[in-house]
Amino acid sequence: MSREKKVENYDVVIIGGGPAGLSAGIYAGRARLKTLLLEKALVGGLATYTNEIANYPGFPDAPKGEAITDLMKAQAKKLGVEFKLTAVSSVTLEGEEKVVETFRNKYLAKAVIIATGGRPRTTGGENEEQFLFDKGISFCATCDAAANTGKHVVVIGSGDAAIEEGMFLTKFASKVTVSVMHDEGKMDCNEIAREAALANPKMDFVWNSVVKRFEGDEAHLKTVVLKNVKTEEEIPVDCDNCFEFIGYLPNTELFEGQLPLTRNRYITVNEKKETGIEGVFAIGDVTDKWLKQIATAVGDGAIAGTAAERYIAEKEIFDTKIMQSEKPGLIYVYNAIDATAREFLATIEKIEHQHAGNIAVNRIDVYKSNGLALKLKVDQVPAVVITKGGEISEKIYTLDEATINAAL
Ligand SMILES: Cc1cc2nc3c(=O)[nH]c(=O)nc-3n(C[C@H](O)[C@H](O)[C@H](O)COP(=O)(O)OP(=O)(O)OC[C@H]3O[C@@H](n4cnc5c(N)ncnc54)[C@H](O)[C@@H]3O)c2cc1C
Repeated sequence: MSREKKVENYDVVIIGGGPAGLSAGIYAGRARLKTLLLEKALVGGLATYTNEIANYPGFPDAPKGEAITDLMKAQAKKLGVEFKLTAVSSVTLEGEEKVVETFRNKYLAKAVIIATGGRPRTTGGENEEQFLFDKGISFCATCDAAANTGKHVVVIGSGDAAIEEGMFLTKFASKVTVSVMHDEGKMDCNEIAREAALANPKMDFVWNSVVKRFEGDEAHLKTVVLKNVKTEEEIPVDCDNCFEFIGYLPNTELFEGQLPLTRNRYITVNEKKETGIEGVFAIGDVTDKWLKQIATAVGDGAIAGTAAERYIAEKEIFDTKIMQSEKPGLIYVYNAIDATAREFLATIEKIEHQHAGNIAVNRIDVYKSNGLALKLKVDQVPAVVITKGGEISEKIYTLDEATINAAL
């Protein structure tokens, strides 16, 4: 017999507790929103897999990723964010009330922030799991290049990321061996990168190759055994580290069919981190962005936490004040930098006095915030929107006192 799920209400539910989700939590908590953060594995996300974060501003001693994200978690908790360690199994994002479900619970939220991150695609070679992250297999040259100064590294892949990151690695490593699946000279990257890589004296290439297995001891990777895809010959390459750049898989399975995704399955957002659905925001590595780092993830979180607060506040004003049903309503939508529209405020005030408390008048300055105007779906500003019984009855685009009075 299936058990009824417990239902709980929140202002904001954040899915994913990596740097992006934690930062969004800090901003939402600080805005006094009732905020829940759901994390299925480790709070701190991918950053916790890193032994040394040398490029996050404010931490000159390159601490472990966890040391940084633990501070973020403590800060979010202090600001009232609730944490639950459980996986989100389904979401319903359309509509005013968003539904986020876990195995046992159903959370209803006014806004949802998606911060589910992603995972690097791996080769599937034998023993790969054993050497992931700090034991010799890395996925981030920006993060780990300096630690490979004077060493021999293997790069897997030949797309733009692989070749550009491989070139970056040559500034530090003594030798960069690149495993390429294709015939000699053929790569998946752009032509400029290809030519530069072929001319780079620190780079050499193993053509027609894929990873067969990884070998090493308890502590670290020692050899990447490649396989020639045409001859099946095994080619052992002794190295200090291996960098895999064969793609990144965003954790977007939950949102397929509900949110627009790019060809590579990332969520597209605008500068306010809004997705295609009102009240649903996406941040961090799960979004279609250029630089996937902790610093950019926390920036995204700050924007989404703030945008969610604004969205909820505007929605409340819209439902209770703008679309009130007690009296006929006059909503003046204008842009304060437009002198004519600003001068018409005096006429709006005159109309308000003429009706002596029998109409509800609201003024919306789109210069300060465009959200309410978008909700009213006005085609241009300035505009006067008339409501009756909590419904829009007329939109007037010519600023004329008599026309407005006639509509009321
Ligand atoms: C090996 C490695 C080293 C790195 N080193 C550095 C570095 O030195 N400096 C730097 O700035 N960046 C580094 N990065 C990149 C950095 O870790 C990421 O850019 C950052 O963690 C992205 O944050 P995020 O919150 O968007 O996603 P993530 O950190 O991936 O967090 C997403 C979270 O969502 C959770 N989640 C996913 N699905 C669900 C679900 N259904 N329900 C509940 N929870 C869910 C996941 O468990 C995860 O904890 C490194 C990355 C890797 C892989």
